[in-house]
Amino acid sequence: MLVGADEAISRANGGAIANIAIFDTSEGAIVVDTGPSRRYGVELEALARQLTGKPVVRALLTHFHPDHVFGCQAFSAKVLAAPKGVVDGLKQSGEDFATAMYYLAGDWMRGTEVVLPEIIINSGHEDIGERRLRYLVLDGHTDSDLAVFDERSGILVAGDLAFLDRAPTTPHADLPAWNRSIAELSQLSISRLVPGHGPAETTPRALVQTGQWLKTLEERIMDSFERGLAMTEAMDEPLPAWTEKIALARYEYERSVMHLYPKLEADGWPRVDVSN
Ligand SMILES: [Zn+2]
Repeated sequence: MLVGADEAISRANGGAIANIAIFDTSEGAIVVDTGPSRRYGVELEALARQLTGKPVVRALLTHFHPDHVFGCQAFSAKVLAAPKGVVDGLKQSGEDFATAMYYLAGDWMRGTEVVLPEIIINSGHEDIGERRLRYLVLDGHTDSDLAVFDERSGILVAGDLAFLDRAPTTPHADLPAWNRSIAELSQLSISRLVPGHGPAETTPRALVQTGQWLKTLEERIMDSFERGLAMTEAMDEPLPAWTEKIALARYEYERSVMHLYPKLEADGWPRVDVSN
């Protein structure tokens, strides 16, 4: 696993904030996610070859967020694979993400372009070499989130359905769907869990903690809304003590209020410009 920085995307980290996984198989290397830029992808491809002594035969994308997908240029479109929802998301938002990434990460992004995978992944199994990968096409962090479970080793690469000791991001989240996906992943016999962000551990703590964070978000934001707080007041609300150890807790909480509050207002407030 290549460990992402527990930070927001910046010119200092070049967007290398997400964890990337490399599997060795007798048929070749498998990478899960390709990183934030062309430059990162080129180094990732070389590293995977160096570590395994074989070419990359499959590069899987867990979801369409820019810190996970912009290294794709380093791989042939014929080895790139993702659920249809991820490809659709890239078609729709990829260019906007690329522009945003140039602003945030600067020169690291030079020459980076959107590449669409040619292989569509559905839920099910695929044998690559001696590994049997189970693909779980889920949703909640975004409209389409792939988790990859290596059945023989028990390693789960959860993508951004799981964060650990780093606050989850919610710009495209559907919280009830995310909770359902966490419940489904929690059924697996996991020997090691690679979250999208944060350390890999031999326990499913990342799933538990992500669920706790989503519950906290829902409760705090709903409570603020029901008390009639303005969005800026809701952003200032205290967070529970356990979140003090979570990187970027306040930052992501504020961003989540910005993502989720307008929807609550749209759903919960009567329209004054339409008469019944
Ligand atoms: Zn993400």
